[in-house]
Amino acid sequence: MTDPAMELPFYYGSISRAEAEEQLKLAGMSDGLFLLRQCLRSLGGYVLSLVWNLQFNHYPVEKLLNGTYCVSGGKPHCGPAELCEYYSKDEDGLVCTLRKPCLRTADTPIRPGVFDTLRENILREYVRKTWNLEGEAMEQAIVSQAPQLEKLIATGAHENMNWFHGKIARQEGERRLYSGTQPDGKFLVRQKDDTGTFALSLVYGKTVYHYQIQRDKTGKYLMPEGTKFDTVWQLVEYLKMKPDGLVTILKDPCVNRNNAANATPAVPPGRLDRRSGNGYTPAPVTTDSSMRLETLKDRPAMPMDSSEFTSPYDDPEELKEKKLFLKREQLMIDEVELGSGNFGCVKKGVYKMRKKHVDVAIKVLKSENEKGVKDEMMREAEIMHQLDNPYIVRMIGICQAESLMLVMEMASGGPLHKFLSSKKDQVSVENVVELMHQVSLGMLYLEQNNFVHRDLAARNVLLVNQHYAKISDFGLSKALGADDNYYKARSAGKWPLKWYAPECVLFHKFSSKSDVWSFGVTMWEAFSYGGKPYKKMKGPEVMSFIQNGDRMDSPPGCPETMYTVMLDCWTFKHEDRPSFAKVEERMRTFYYSISKKSPSEVPEPVE
Ligand code: ADP
Ligand code: MG
Repeated sequence: MTDPAMELPFYYGSISRAEAEEQLKLAGMSDGLFLLRQCLRSLGGYVLSLVWNLQFNHYPVEKLLNGTYCVSGGKPHCGPAELCEYYSKDEDGLVCTLRKPCLRTADTPIRPGVFDTLRENILREYVRKTWNLEGEAMEQAIVSQAPQLEKLIATGAHENMNWFHGKIARQEGERRLYSGTQPDGKFLVRQKDDTGTFALSLVYGKTVYHYQIQRDKTGKYLMPEGTKFDTVWQLVEYLKMKPDGLVTILKDPCVNRNNAANATPAVPPGRLDRRSGNGYTPAPVTTDSSMRLETLKDRPAMPMDSSEFTSPYDDPEELKEKKLFLKREQLMIDEVELGSGNFGCVKKGVYKMRKKHVDVAIKVLKSENEKGVKDEMMREAEIMHQLDNPYIVRMIGICQAESLMLVMEMASGGPLHKFLSSKKDQVSVENVVELMHQVSLGMLYLEQNNFVHRDLAARNVLLVNQHYAKISDFGLSKALGADDNYYKARSAGKWPLKWYAPECVLFHKFSSKSDVWSFGVTMWEAFSYGGKPYKKMKGPEVMSFIQNGDRMDSPPGCPETMYTVMLDCWTFKHEDRPSFAKVEERMRTFYYSISKKSPSEVPEPVE
């Protein structure tokens, strides 16, 4: 996550005390000269280095559990910038006020900390192991869920580490350390049976030493009398650099085969089993699955928990049989209707693949006679066939039998506007932001791949569950040529005018920028919990409303930042309108900022 000190010109990142003093010397050692650097010991903490009387003074700045920052014993401040501003006016216990910032030069970038890079790697490792994701799917999981993942990792990451052996007895720890070679510094961490506390076992001179990892009142981990850390894995990383009271520093991990085995589990861990309904099944990744359940028990639902996060063809076995046209025998059609349109209806069904059964939604064409409608559906299938993103409804294939059928992934939560208007009191604003960020990720994917959707609206955003949205209905979509920025429609059809940008209505020009306009309207629908946009107006009236410079008001309770994004999406000139690259970034920044503050909610699964 971004470091709040990043934007301060006197912040140096992870430099040592000696390096800080070197910088201050170079800058002239005047009284009140200061800089800020990262603290190695506490997660999110800093050190303020200050010159007075040609002497260096180093003050640790701690990040408290409530998210505020303070110099030991001093007043709390909401961020490092505010803290420094305060001490520039009032010395309040320091040797003097902060008078002159020791500024970084152009060739001195902020140095990333060990934990910054480590955290990134751990995050990837965690996602890879827990959900069995790779590549682009892993990146998408991380970008959409970073705040929740960081919370999980802060407390539970040690469970996935190769040096963590779970609940084993001291003797078993020794047995494992004595097997194979016993170089100094070979170590493991185990959990003590009775108390749930941790112990470190370490080889030195062919002897195993055991250390209790202590926890102080605030929950921090430490070696007796040693440095305190927020997490077990940080303590271990620190002990690799400094002995902190141990006989030696930690070197080679005694590898726990269960944690080190990267073999793909038969069922991806933590995913919903496609046939077994809604139960979430956390996977026994470590030797002791009960412990894992402990940390995952109350965590919010994440898109990666659903099998729909990756394509059913992600499995190489299934990919072998992938064909555009599906065999009728493999498709079971339910009588249940999920929805309908002028083409016909959408039915529920199951598609039998080689290894698994997939719940599907089947768009069934009404009659075969209307050639035009059939062509339209084939075009929709062609578009969907080219798309593969977690936030877009995937097509499984087409089936030509009693009628022409488009077989898609199932999004059982139904359209966004209906869901929000019926569950208004159960869905927080944060939840709406989360879903709209996911929609912006799906739209960013379309923008990057030169597709225009042309019918983005809340009715075409379907939910897999309360925390997972997908864009659907590619009936009007177009793939743009490599050099084209827009699609020009020859004639106006039955168009969703209230969702359309001025250039669509006036010049029939469609681009990702016009999709951005529709995204703004979709946001308005979402934040008004399924309200109807431009309520009393007819489609053509909306155009003059917009041309007059008017825009819809902010829905009640909508965060101001989100309304600002909407207004920017409704920039009249498409050249001045933000792209999805920009929109997604703004949705993400806002989403991260609010989910950091509020405690994670216990999810309400969609029935
Ligand atoms: P139209 O072109 O008529 O708008 P849509 O693709 O939007 O067709 O589908 C119409 C309705 O069918 C949707 O509003 C939704 O209720 C249902 N539906 C469509 N696709 C799915 C799906 N993949 N999963 C679940 N329901 C779906
Ligand atoms: Mg639709």
